[in-house]
Amino acid sequence: MNPADPLSDFSAFQPLLDRPIEDKLRDFQREQRLKHLICAAQLKPDLLTRLGRLADMIRRMARERESNLALRQLLSHKRAMLYFTQPSTRTFLSFMAACQILGITCNEVRDPKTSSEIKRESHMDSIRMFSSYFDVIIMRSPIANFAECCAYMMNRQESQEMRSVPTINAGSGSDEHPTQALLDFYTIQRSFSFDAEGTPAESRLKTLRQSYPELQSGPAGKTYLFCGDIGRGRTVRSLATVLAQYSSQRMIFVSPDHAVLGLDPVLRSRLVSAGVSVHEFNSLDAKLNGHSILSQTDCLYMTRIQREHNSAADSKEMAELDLSPFQLTQQRVGQLKEFSPIMHPFPRDSVVQELPTQIDSDPRVMYFRQARNGMWARAALLVHLLDASEGLFMAYRRFFRD
Ligand code: ASP
Repeated sequence: MNPADPLSDFSAFQPLLDRPIEDKLRDFQREQRLKHLICAAQLKPDLLTRLGRLADMIRRMARERESNLALRQLLSHKRAMLYFTQPSTRTFLSFMAACQILGITCNEVRDPKTSSEIKRESHMDSIRMFSSYFDVIIMRSPIANFAECCAYMMNRQESQEMRSVPTINAGSGSDEHPTQALLDFYTIQRSFSFDAEGTPAESRLKTLRQSYPELQSGPAGKTYLFCGDIGRGRTVRSLATVLAQYSSQRMIFVSPDHAVLGLDPVLRSRLVSAGVSVHEFNSLDAKLNGHSILSQTDCLYMTRIQREHNSAADSKEMAELDLSPFQLTQQRVGQLKEFSPIMHPFPRDSVVQELPTQIDSDPRVMYFRQARNGMWARAALLVHLLDASEGLFMAYRRFFRD
């Protein structure tokens, strides 16, 4: 937030922003469902299970013409605003595709210069106007607390019996990316479900699992390795928060030796208090208990260095860094367990090549599937937020028995 900029003056919400996270959650919740999705801490295990089930139903219905048409009727009376003032490819397009799958009409503002913000309209006024015309606001902004403040404004409108719509945080600064955590989790859940119904690559895990009888299904009891910009990677923060809710987790964080790139101490202590065994290293070749960390990894989550957050001093210092210990070379892939999913929220950095294209054909690669899962997971979220779960169940039962 920039208090010197009247366009983004959120001081009216400061007391609400300053509360501990657990106190905030009820503001984003209705009795049985979410009112807004602002942070990953809202994604509790039972909700993740429900959303995963909705996503599975949607992807199945989308396959055939008749059930696909029924899906398109589900929310055809709703309109969505995609307000993305920070670059985005996958999140924007997958939300748009998710809306199209459900029959929701979309509109977008991507460049604030084309809106009245150029006439010095405040961000909050813009959002309030969107809520007059649309039924859900999906927003990405470089300003960390903006989506959260929008949710508070909607709540205030609701308490004054004025129009209020759900707000979805589609990425806020270097802070949070809860819908990415949702799709990442959905991908992990499918990878470790050993379900023969899954895609061929997912079903392959079912056979492989026979060689790893101790490997339990589901996200719990795993070693997750996160590599890259751990400090400013909002997807890492959001996904680690979600995974920490499951028992017996071990998380290994690998990042270059630079103050802004390492694990944030607040996140570290949150993970440790949730019972996660946390380890930090500065190379993918590091060893833990005498063995290579890669050989102990059940799921690998690569990220790029988030250069857009660099100060001039950061850029200068980072130019000196050797990033080769953070590149997933074929030799390093070779050390991974044969089932370990390789994930990346994308975009990958084509210059640094933390994820060289040579590994794209490895059967453990999940990043393209992960991006497609974003469409199903985001469609599920929209169904939930717009209170259409029951309608979806009814439509599903017209075509499938289970
Ligand atoms: N697309 C993800 C994000 O918006 C990851 C990234 O940009 O590196 O945070």
